[in-house]
Amino acid sequence: MALAHNLGFPRIGADRELKKALEAYWKGDLDQAALQSVGRELRAAHWQLQKDAGIDLLPVGDFAWYDQVLTHSLTFGVIPERFAGVTNEKGLPILDTLFAMARGASSACCGGNHGTAQYAQELTKWFDTNYHYLVPEFTRDQHFKLSWEQLFEEVDEATALGYTVKPVIIGPLTYLWLGKAKGDSFDKLELLDRLLPIYGEILGRLAGQGVEWVQIDEPILSLDLPQDWKNAFERAYHSLQYSPLKKLIATYFGGLEDNLGLAVALPVAGLHVDLVRAPEQLPALLDRLPTYKVLSLGVVNGRNVWRCDLEAAREGLLEAQLRFADNLWVAGSCSLLHSPVDLEREDQLDAELKSWLAFAKQKCNEISILSTALNDPQAERVQTAFAESRAVQLSRQQSPRIHKPEVQARVAAITPADSQRQSAFAERIDLQRARLNLPAFPTTTIGSFPQTASIRLARQSWKQGKLSANDYHDAMRAEIRHAVNTQELLGLDVLVHGEAERNDMVEYFAEQLDGYAFSRFGWVQSYGSRCVKPAVIVGDLSRPQAMTVDWIEYAQSLTDKVMKGMLTGPVTMLMWSFPREDVSRKVQARQLALAIRDEVVDLESAGIKIVQIDEAAFREGLPLRRAQWTEYLDWAVEAFRLCASGVRDETQIHTHMCYSEFNEVIASIAAMDADVITVETSRSDMELLEAFKAFDYPNDIGPGVYDIHSPRVPDKAEMMTLMNKAVQRIPAERLWVNPDCGLKTRARPETEAALVNMVAAARQLRAELA
Ligand code: GLN
Ligand code: ZN
Repeated sequence: MALAHNLGFPRIGADRELKKALEAYWKGDLDQAALQSVGRELRAAHWQLQKDAGIDLLPVGDFAWYDQVLTHSLTFGVIPERFAGVTNEKGLPILDTLFAMARGASSACCGGNHGTAQYAQELTKWFDTNYHYLVPEFTRDQHFKLSWEQLFEEVDEATALGYTVKPVIIGPLTYLWLGKAKGDSFDKLELLDRLLPIYGEILGRLAGQGVEWVQIDEPILSLDLPQDWKNAFERAYHSLQYSPLKKLIATYFGGLEDNLGLAVALPVAGLHVDLVRAPEQLPALLDRLPTYKVLSLGVVNGRNVWRCDLEAAREGLLEAQLRFADNLWVAGSCSLLHSPVDLEREDQLDAELKSWLAFAKQKCNEISILSTALNDPQAERVQTAFAESRAVQLSRQQSPRIHKPEVQARVAAITPADSQRQSAFAERIDLQRARLNLPAFPTTTIGSFPQTASIRLARQSWKQGKLSANDYHDAMRAEIRHAVNTQELLGLDVLVHGEAERNDMVEYFAEQLDGYAFSRFGWVQSYGSRCVKPAVIVGDLSRPQAMTVDWIEYAQSLTDKVMKGMLTGPVTMLMWSFPREDVSRKVQARQLALAIRDEVVDLESAGIKIVQIDEAAFREGLPLRRAQWTEYLDWAVEAFRLCASGVRDETQIHTHMCYSEFNEVIASIAAMDADVITVETSRSDMELLEAFKAFDYPNDIGPGVYDIHSPRVPDKAEMMTLMNKAVQRIPAERLWVNPDCGLKTRARPETEAALVNMVAAARQLRAELA
């Protein structure tokens, strides 16, 4: 019998119950027993739901109070010294240790042992998803010790409820790979031999609880791995070979490629692969994985919201069934953590659109249908589901709300000249300087001003129908006036309107484009209690009318200074949405680019002299495998240039990127050919500028002089120090002075105080250097 299993289910709850409980607990409005019971209820509900959907082996260990990697750090006793004051009397972690590691701890809340605040562990992206994990911190003398009982307790909990479970743990190599060596530098791999006995212990304990299978996630097998890490795989799994339990190694987010030989030869009982991301690996797997092992095929996409094309998914399964027979398992491509929870709750989607979608709960059903289709092809349930699936595919292929001939024709007509400014930067910048008449070291901000409670309340009231559209409009205009006034008083050179009218830099534009749809409850965990609700790209994208021109024109009318128009770029729009699967990312990016290009041109026609096109997600779009970088960078750069190239030379195009790891993509950043780029540099102490220097970045740069992620107000001297470093690497006439990201999450007083210092720093630079 082919078996249906699931790599993991979203923990947050269909109603974001976990988010709400966590936040109430942190505020002190909910006690720990109540929080624990919310967790227990969610786990029980999720197991039942998966079982009802027809999943045979249920995951345990996919629940986490904050993040699954953090749970592992607690399990292994990888708890940085600075949290020693938040443990129990035996020095073991408690729930508040976990939260302190995730969120930082103030001395007030945990009696911090040094009497100072303990900063949280670093958050970083989980592979190429928008989920963020807490980076384990290793020291050279790192000691591992089984320190956290959660997994075993949850196995007992599930068993007591009568479920057959498969515990899920992150494998030793992936866990080490995700962490960071702290203190004197050393190779993390040296820790492997000390870590493996803990895995042995865990497997032994699980076996004692009556478990048969364990899923060991090693997603790094889909990355380009250094040779010593490949070797370590063999060593690690040989050493775990004689520990009890059948081990299923799970890989996802890409193909095994050069690691395939290694993966199929590991001494384990089964291998899971992601056939959604890498369908091309199937023949090699069928050829090389011994048939006494289990082959688990991830055929239902765990990372998107589209209903599975059952017919297409079954093809690969049938082929595999010929060889693997009962040793074939069916699963989602990866954990369903990255999908929203339950489509049934969407009461405001029209029936047609709803019939095209599947969230986690529906995906479990699809997994089970596909396994039944192998075991009992004639079953009525299978016949019905396949008939429905065929109808859905057909309706999508023909739907006029997806396929728009005008949009396609316009994309087809794109020529290389469309992504080419009229003249080269050297000529453009002279025209721009003459027109803009800015001082040396011009000051500006990244776009948003503080989103105050009253702004959010106004928007909420308007959406609930309690505030009329006119009143909302007036309230936002008042906010714009306030932002413009503030900037004039501060003495900034290039002003922004402050983005008061925007809820989110992607959603705001998505709502105005044709081809997007929105769910009401499609939340996906981003980190901890934070969830995002990405917009869904349903069909060909276009801009029915101008999106920002009225606001920006109004802002410009309030001042004689230059007002910068503010847009979100195509790559960022795409990365932070659920994309289509029936056309490539490149096509979607080009459609978005044309829509944004029209907006840039409209802003220019309205007299706006500078337009910023934010590409916050440009770097994160990089594929996991290096071999795929060029293809991505080519279309991503082209999409940006398409947006930027519809205007005259004297119109200045800015872009903004809020991160600092540029070294590997600097040539592509330069190829975007924005006249000015603003970047994050303050946290890395201008280190990033090394990349700009080594590569000889040709255009203007605004290296962020202060970190907006913290309420701290840096003084003028601090900003001067950073700018003086910048001046050593980049010619002064090409430097701008600005914060390192938008100010929307900050409060007004600290923002204004920091900007006063920033303007003063720029003035001093002018006096000293210009
Ligand atoms: N213009 C946006 C803002 O200022 C940019 C945000 C971002 O890069 N994440 O908020
Ligand atoms: Zn930013």
